[in-house]
Parts: sequence; structure tokens; C-alpha cells
Amino acid sequence: MSTYQRLLLDPKSEDALSKYEMPKDLGFGKTILPIMAIAEYKNGSWGAAKLQPYGPLNLDPAARVLHYGQAIFEGMKAYNNEGKIALFRPEENHKRFNRSAERMAMPDIPFETFMNAIDSLCSYSEKFIPAGEGESLYLRPFMIASEAGLGLAAANEYLYMVVASPSGGYFAADKVNVLIERSACRAAPGGTGYAKAAGNYGGSIQAGNKAIKLGFQQTMWLDAVEKKYVEELSGMNIFAVVNNKIYTPKLTDSILEGITRDSVIKLARHKGYELEECTLDINWLVEKIKSEECSEIFAVGTAAVVTPLSSLGEADGTIYKIKEDFGPVAKLIKDNLVGIQRQSIEDPFSWVYEIGTNFS
Ligand code: PMP
Repeated sequence: MSTYQRLLLDPKSEDALSKYEMPKDLGFGKTILPIMAIAEYKNGSWGAAKLQPYGPLNLDPAARVLHYGQAIFEGMKAYNNEGKIALFRPEENHKRFNRSAERMAMPDIPFETFMNAIDSLCSYSEKFIPAGEGESLYLRPFMIASEAGLGLAAANEYLYMVVASPSGGYFAADKVNVLIERSACRAAPGGTGYAKAAGNYGGSIQAGNKAIKLGFQQTMWLDAVEKKYVEELSGMNIFAVVNNKIYTPKLTDSILEGITRDSVIKLARHKGYELEECTLDINWLVEKIKSEECSEIFAVGTAAVVTPLSSLGEADGTIYKIKEDFGPVAKLIKDNLVGIQRQSIEDPFSWVYEIGTNFS
């Protein structure tokens, strides 16, 4: 892996950091650090990233991102592990960022540009990375089409930015009830579901609001064609334990390939569980919940870590209560995943990346 020089902290950014006071009640993604990283793409190449005080952008109202949604993002966490600052598999976020960029006709970004922005931002913000249980610095790398133009075409100019939020846990409750969405769909075959494209998330909010109105916390998406196969939640992948075997939907182009999902698959197999990636029929799953052969369902993602589901439900009020709402498989997976991320147990897969490792 190539090395890079830590980005400089200009006096204004230094001043902004020195005046920053972290709120006591963090929430998730609510408070943003007073510095950010930014790089510009112009004339076919990326300029160097720089750090600057956090603040409004000077964006042309005809910028293509505002009209045609050329916008992609990533979600990562930096952990404060007793003085060491650790990321989890950041090279996978970089790869997925470039897959998203390709799908949205946006430019690739080199690993050094992507990573130095994150590395440098974290290294200057060390004292604002909360260390409590479930706490981290949530990192949001993103890219937008900044060039002005109202004709439908890919932009020639882009901005890559990283903002960061000292955060606590994602859900207010540690167990969630999930509405099976039987009418709307999140992503269709041939569409953008496998990309972390902003529009996928905008399109999921209406169903999310419906779920909340009906007393659920999340939406479970089914495939767009048959409305029969479980895909994922709006920001998490999903696992079910049936007769002691673990099942998860196999990847298609309408499912976001979660880095936590991949890690859970590897961890579960490493721990000796049988695990199958398959088409997961919702009606089969509901029957298995009712017969209690399905003992656990849990959702996984960077933000939500491992979150057990208490129930699945329908819009007509039918509830399928899941046997265990924090069962032994979810517990074991969570303990091991969090243990590796917090560097309190061995990391047999070399998943942890310590901040500053690539500084020359
Ligand atoms: N599915 C969707 C739709 C997501 O937005 C996310 C969060 N990136 C995930 C799954 C989980 O992915 P990861 O484990 O990489 O955070």
C-alpha cells in the first residue's frame, strides 16, 4: 500500500477545532465536527485533498447534483480504543465508493485521496472521538457533481468531501420492530440498489415514515419483481437463524453489499455456524417465525452494528413475534464483531486499520 503525507491543518481549521465543544448528548449524526476534508475533480483528474473549517458550500444552483442526483456516499466509523484510533476495513469502503461512482457515471477516486482525507481528519480530531460503549466518530465521505448544466449528462466537475460526527448508538431502542413493505420497492433489477447512491435513500423515506406511523422502526424491502424475496432494510442487511442454521439473502444488483454483512458471514463460518446465502422467501420466513423454528432475526450495518429484531409485521396490524429478541447467535456475532472493532480481542482477519498507518 502506498503512503501519503498527512494533510496540513490551516490556522482557521486549528482555531475552529480549538473552540469546539462536544455536546454531552451526542445522538447519531446530529453534531458535526468543525473541520472537513475536500478535494476537487476537474479536467479529468483529482486535485489534492485539503482540510478546511466546516461550513456551507458555494454551489452553483445549476450544479448537476441538485437536478440529476449524481451523489454517492459511504458510512464508516472511527473508534477510540484507549488512545488508538481504529477504522474497520476502510479499503472495502473505498472499493464500494468506486463501484457506486461507476454506476452513477462519476469518476473513480484513488485510494490515497479517499483515505488521506479520512486519516488526516481523524488524526486531528482525536480528542473528539468518543470512547464510550457504542460511541464512535461517524464518518461520511461523499461525492457530488458540482459542475453547472441543465442538460442531462454526466458532469465534468465533482467534489469529494468528508464530514464527521461524534456519535452514540443508531437506534434509541436496542431491539426493533420491522414492517414488511408489500407495495413500494427500494431497488429494481438493473437499477442502482447496489450503489450507495443518495437517491436510493431519498426514495426509501416515504416507506420509512409509513413504518414509523404504524409503530415500527424500520422497513423490510422485498424484491421489486415478485415482491416475495427478502432483500434488506433501508440501511442494514439481514440475517435469520432457522433450526440453528443462518440464512441471509444472496447478493443481487438490488442489494447493497454491506461490509458488516461480509464480516458477519466470515465470522459466523469461522465460529463453526452453517450459513447459506440464498433467496429468502418472506412467506417461508413468516411460517418459520410462527412455528418458532426461526429463533432469531438480526440486522447488521456500520451504523446499527448488530441489531436484533423483536418482530416482523404487516401494514394491517398483524405481528409475527420472533422467539428470541436477542438470541445467542446475534450475541456471539455482536460480541466478536465489536471486540475486533474495539481491539479488545484478537483480529484473525486483519480487519482493523489504525489511523496514521499510511502517513509517510
Ligand atoms: N444496506 C443498505 C441499504 C445500507 O445503506 C447499508 C449501510 N451502508 C447497509 C446495508 C450495511 O452496509 P455496511 O455494513 O457496509 O454499513
